[in-house]
Amino acid sequence: MTDKDFSIETKLIHAGEPNPRIKGAVSMPIFQSSNFEYEGETSYDSVRYIRLNNTPNHVALHQKLAAISGAEAALVTSSGMSAITTALLAFLKSGDHIMAHNTLYGGTADYVVHDLPEYGIEFDFFDALNSEDWESKLKSNTKVIYVETITNPLMDVAKLDAVVQFAKKHNLVSMIDNTFASPLLFSPIKNGFDISLHSATKYLNGHSDIVAGAIMGSQAHISQVNSKLIHLGGSLDPNSCFLLQRGMKTMSLRMERQCENAMEIAHFLENHPKITQVNYPGLKSSKSYENAKEFLCGFGAMISFELEGDVAVADAFIQRLEFAINAASLGGVETLVTRPVQTSHSLMSPLEREKAGISDTLIRYSVGIESANDLIADLKQALG
Ligand SMILES: *Cc1c(COP(=O)(O)O)cnc(C)c1O
Repeated sequence: MTDKDFSIETKLIHAGEPNPRIKGAVSMPIFQSSNFEYEGETSYDSVRYIRLNNTPNHVALHQKLAAISGAEAALVTSSGMSAITTALLAFLKSGDHIMAHNTLYGGTADYVVHDLPEYGIEFDFFDALNSEDWESKLKSNTKVIYVETITNPLMDVAKLDAVVQFAKKHNLVSMIDNTFASPLLFSPIKNGFDISLHSATKYLNGHSDIVAGAIMGSQAHISQVNSKLIHLGGSLDPNSCFLLQRGMKTMSLRMERQCENAMEIAHFLENHPKITQVNYPGLKSSKSYENAKEFLCGFGAMISFELEGDVAVADAFIQRLEFAINAASLGGVETLVTRPVQTSHSLMSPLEREKAGISDTLIRYSVGIESANDLIADLKQALG
């Protein structure tokens, strides 16, 4: 059997694992060694050293990540932001221009707006839900188009096939931050994107105990990113590699439960009189429902919503929740709740947030693997 014959659930367990097993170890050991004995390597890139992303723990993870993504190659990085910034710098240089989705993750938006111009790289934001204005944003020096699969925190799903077609037509490198969907709900590479980016901190690892990133693509693209990564130095340490490899093994089970829970909770919220707005692409009322149904294998486990009242009301509600932990980040087994304006989007100016449609009272809820009944009972008491 070749790799292609297996489903993603099987690959999460078996792909990339050493064969034969090292000393018979069923779980891949941690190689806590910065450097390795010279074995006749012929280039700098193949000298084994943690920063060069080529120790046994890296190699195993790269193979697993590539296999589950249908990609030729993959890289792990020290964080999601390291994956994003390294990939951008690998394909953009002074004088270039990037077209970026207008509702990016807060850290990415801030990087595009405040850091890229310092390197002489221009940007324009575009409305990824409406392909009519894309041509007008294109410039002769546009090199990269960058989108997110499910946007944070409004959970929009763009016309992903149109983004790929636009990129191919205009010879752009297409990049997608697939963090909120995870490789289980959307496969960027199989759908024609050049570079798939993830904060592996979230669903890939799933246990809120490491920070890591992942990049998938063709061998040529990944080699180009790797050259940048070994200069910028955003390598993942072996201990975190081990935790990520372990976390990935249960991703399909976690994701399944989290998506099921999220659908139940979204319906509960939508029908609650004190809730004025629910953003979840699995709801028929969502403007992203059709796109989500067309492109994704599930609707994800991130919900945002607004309740009647001001910021004080929203904060009091968050305080009253018993199970949902008031913390930024997402994608772990435990349910988390946050007000994006206070956390993930606090770097954006009020004007930038207003343009992106992120209100001060918006609440973001990352659904965990607890029982949906218990989570709903908790929401009910906090709203009551
Ligand atoms: C968390 C997150 C990032 C940043 O990842 P880190 O691992 O925190 O560096 C980027 N994009 C999205 C969509 C995220 O949720």
